[in-house]
Amino acid sequence: MSVNQSAPPVPPFGQNQPVYPGYHPASYGGQPGPAVPASPYGAYNGPVPGYQQTPPQGVPRAPPSSGAPPASMQAPCGQTTYGQFGQGDIQNGPSSTAQMQRLQGSQQFGPPLAPVVSQPAVLQPYGPPPTSTQVTAQLAGMQISGAVSHAPPSSVLGYGPPTSLASASGSFPNSGPYGSYPQSQAPPLSQAQGHPGVQPPLRSAPPLASSFTSPASGGPRMPSMTGPLPPGQGFGSLPVSQPNHVSSTPSHALPPGTQMTGPPGTQMTGPPVPPPSMHSPQQAGYQLQQNGSFGPARGPQPNYESPYPGAPTFGSQPGPPQPLPPKRLDPDAIPSPIQVIEDDRNNRGSEPFVTGVRGQVPPLVTTNFLVKDQGNASPRYIRCTSYNIPCTSDMAKQAQVPLAAVIKPLARLPPEEASPYVVDHGEAGPLRCNRCKAYMCPLMTFIEGGRRFQCSFCSCVNDVPPQYFQHLDHTGKRVDAYDRPELSLGSYEFLATVDYCKNNKFPSPPAFIFMIDVSYNAIRTGLVRLLCEELKSLLDYLPREGGAEESAIRVGFVTYNKVLHFYNVKSSLAQPQMMVVSDVADMFVPLLDGFLVNVRESRAVITSLLDKIPEMFADTRETETVFAPVIQAGMEALKAAECAGKLFLFHTSLPIAEAPGKLKNRDDRKLINTDKEKTLFQPQTGTYQTLAKDCVAQGCCVDLFLFPNQYVDVATLSVVPQLTGGSVYKYACFQVENDQERFLSDLRRDVQKVVGFDAVMRVRTSTGIRAVDFFGAFYMSNTTDVELAGLDEDKTVAVEFKHDDRLSEESGALLQCALLYTSCAGQRRLRIHNLALNCCTQLADLYRNCETDTLINYMAKFAYRGVVNSPVKTVRDTLITQCAQILACYRKNCASPSSAGQLILPECMKLLPVYLNCVLKSDVLQPGAEVTTDDRAYVRQLVSSMDVAETNVFFYPRLLPLTKSPIDSTSEPPAVRASEERLSSGDIYLLENGLNLFVWVGASVQQGVVQSLFNVSSFSQITSGLSVLPVLDNPLSRKVRGLIDSLRAQRMRYMKLIVVKQEDKLEMLFKHFLVEDKSLSGGASYVDFLCHMHKEIRQLLS
Ligand SMILES: [Zn+2]
Repeated sequence: MSVNQSAPPVPPFGQNQPVYPGYHPASYGGQPGPAVPASPYGAYNGPVPGYQQTPPQGVPRAPPSSGAPPASMQAPCGQTTYGQFGQGDIQNGPSSTAQMQRLQGSQQFGPPLAPVVSQPAVLQPYGPPPTSTQVTAQLAGMQISGAVSHAPPSSVLGYGPPTSLASASGSFPNSGPYGSYPQSQAPPLSQAQGHPGVQPPLRSAPPLASSFTSPASGGPRMPSMTGPLPPGQGFGSLPVSQPNHVSSTPSHALPPGTQMTGPPGTQMTGPPVPPPSMHSPQQAGYQLQQNGSFGPARGPQPNYESPYPGAPTFGSQPGPPQPLPPKRLDPDAIPSPIQVIEDDRNNRGSEPFVTGVRGQVPPLVTTNFLVKDQGNASPRYIRCTSYNIPCTSDMAKQAQVPLAAVIKPLARLPPEEASPYVVDHGEAGPLRCNRCKAYMCPLMTFIEGGRRFQCSFCSCVNDVPPQYFQHLDHTGKRVDAYDRPELSLGSYEFLATVDYCKNNKFPSPPAFIFMIDVSYNAIRTGLVRLLCEELKSLLDYLPREGGAEESAIRVGFVTYNKVLHFYNVKSSLAQPQMMVVSDVADMFVPLLDGFLVNVRESRAVITSLLDKIPEMFADTRETETVFAPVIQAGMEALKAAECAGKLFLFHTSLPIAEAPGKLKNRDDRKLINTDKEKTLFQPQTGTYQTLAKDCVAQGCCVDLFLFPNQYVDVATLSVVPQLTGGSVYKYACFQVENDQERFLSDLRRDVQKVVGFDAVMRVRTSTGIRAVDFFGAFYMSNTTDVELAGLDEDKTVAVEFKHDDRLSEESGALLQCALLYTSCAGQRRLRIHNLALNCCTQLADLYRNCETDTLINYMAKFAYRGVVNSPVKTVRDTLITQCAQILACYRKNCASPSSAGQLILPECMKLLPVYLNCVLKSDVLQPGAEVTTDDRAYVRQLVSSMDVAETNVFFYPRLLPLTKSPIDSTSEPPAVRASEERLSSGDIYLLENGLNLFVWVGASVQQGVVQSLFNVSSFSQITSGLSVLPVLDNPLSRKVRGLIDSLRAQRMRYMKLIVVKQEDKLEMLFKHFLVEDKSLSGGASYVDFLCHMHKEIRQLLS
């Protein structure tokens, strides 16, 4: 059986071929053939008491005021730290256009080419795994330095909001809100972060199966301590406040000759014991024994201090007094994320990934590669934790590897890859299995000369309808297989018939409603003026279908504080009209005709309205807002217009005005690390769940832009966006001068991105496994249908599978994800993604075909969801235990026999410990003192919809040296590991994690470099906290600014820049992202966590 190499050189469906035989050509255009024109508004029962209609000619009166704003509203913001959360890249590119154009009628499925790969394919793991798939850790005797950590106590650091940030960041004028808008080029996909010209890694990782060597760390060696642990000092019984695995000073490069390679037989017999706090100089650390193993115990450890509250990560491991562990490992000798990423780029970045073979593990998300669809969905749509799943549930339970898929149904593809073809089966609709309702796909088997087909999901034999009949060739394949996307591709779309529409009626085009908080805070910050100005131009860039000249989406406008103001912007009016609804307890929509309008037709009235809104409320004193009634009003308006749509809410404060959904400030940091911590993540009222349910029923998706000065209860306010497939953006302490670029970039991208409305997603599986759990932003009213009021191109849904029967190696395991949705032009469609996985009876095959990045994505979502119901510590412990079980099972069943002292990791999972540690010490699971409750709720909901590439960089940020590579090099510099010891004070580095962007400047950077980049003559003159680099005409400045632009273009949210100087106060913000180091909040360093995992694994094996 051929693999990729035998694939035809050209995909069977050329993009430039004009005809598409066998299909209704018209249906390809993506034009809403059967779409119904905008329907007249539904029943409108005339005026309702409670609103006042202003005369048409008059500018509406100002809303009532309710007293001067309290002082607290004007207080400077105290939570700048996370100001950078909620950023994204600017994406004004023709997202919808670029993609939709390929849906036009100018496509053809080319003539059948040479046979590709028949389905189902034989078991062919992609590329033989290395024969030695183990990374062996001989945790040889090492001493850990007891030196006091470099990290000063938190009190000294002034860790917290960088007070200078806001003032400092305005030093350079912004380029203006509209300068770069619109962009005409779609930015590359996020995968583009892997640049083709891969450079040799800065440091080489240990070879496979090499020992983890163990140099001494930099600090002085302490005398060995032997002797049993005193009772109560075992690992498991440390005081809870004990910082776990605190490492000492980062070990520096090993002096020549001091490296201690484990001699044969050298073992890490003793599991690591957490070194004491970094304030305990008496700690001896890991010591080497004469025979290469370690003594059974360690000495008494007075002065266990706990400088950081809530520090422990690993709490609940009971155990006997632990033998003394080896001292810390050489960071260069443990698996390096950078090396793994580089290796994958080098090995897999040059060839396209051809999807014709079942169970192939795709390249890493950090590798830039092209995909050729030959029967399985692209990894841009679906990634799995493993591509070879155990045949039995017993095996799966033994391995503990979660079986999950992370699905991004509407993912944006790079321009080189064809968007899914649209197939029209006419009035009969898509062909499906009669029993399980799976859609026709390449996995179905045609039999009896083509008259029937057997469903590969449920084995049911179905008749082929006469109009679909086709002969089979000598291999049993339909002769038209390559003319039909649904018989040869992994991903495609069907036009849906009226049976797939609500109320058996084709949908109207969707609507966007902009709902703008005009309370005092929104006016004062300049937000309202900025937003109204932006909308005037942004409305020209609403999503369009295919080659449509204008968007079919209608728009409407609402402003609000304690009351709501609706606007009639009917094209025939000379001036907009405002209608005030003050009865917020019983929300209704006071006007139907003229509320949702076509932008072109009502252009003049809309422009007039957007000019007037900032003026109308300029003198407002109203500080109180409502929230739930605003969503209710938007949803009711869509209901009245009988369409789906999206609400864009721009909101500033905790909704304390008397109304449904009124909230109180219940933030209480004292709950952290208590059993009640979970309540911080729970909504404080059920109102919003009920409201969300109504929204989903109407296909009303809610995107929320928050501009809080203080606690706004993100956990509660984000309930509706979360359940309706929407997004939340947060700009703490918003100031136009500092934050407009970030906000406008996010807004532009959010408004323009491809989105499906009123969607239902269903994941079908072949017999033996089934989808049992789902993670993401959606609503479920039963156990199988994922309901999405809206689903945009960035959102993923993670799905977990469990066995309900035995699987066979021969037939494998099949997934089919079907997404029914309404396009932005109102066309009802089904997008189908198919993926075939292998099944195994040997655990080794499971471990050889895992995808750690996807595993981490899933485990993070699982953990983040768990904090609503369980204490955070329990959640962390569960993660650690599961990870240890996964690795212990490998050790026991798959690794070649070796001494128990060796830590052996599966090749595909050698980064599991380092990445898992990043999840464990993330802000949701182990917050630092500077992380607010709102930040945690915000990150939590953000991660729930992230794809694998995003979680990868979010948990393990990229750190790029800017001054090491040649100035004329055009490729991205090779990354270095996220650890302080990788920073050289003579260099400048850039760090990004998809939300945050830092430029770190070493204290001894050359003066010329400082001048070239910052236009000042010395390090001391660089403004700390700078958010814009000066535009200078020299190669270094151009290169760095270009790199920043390109990084921003790869990310979903605009990343605001913060310039950080070495040894500056702000540096603590930056160090938070050096995830291989011990964190201030008590999170373990990578080295220490690896030792801890080793201990856990050993316990499981003993
Ligand atoms: Zn079936």
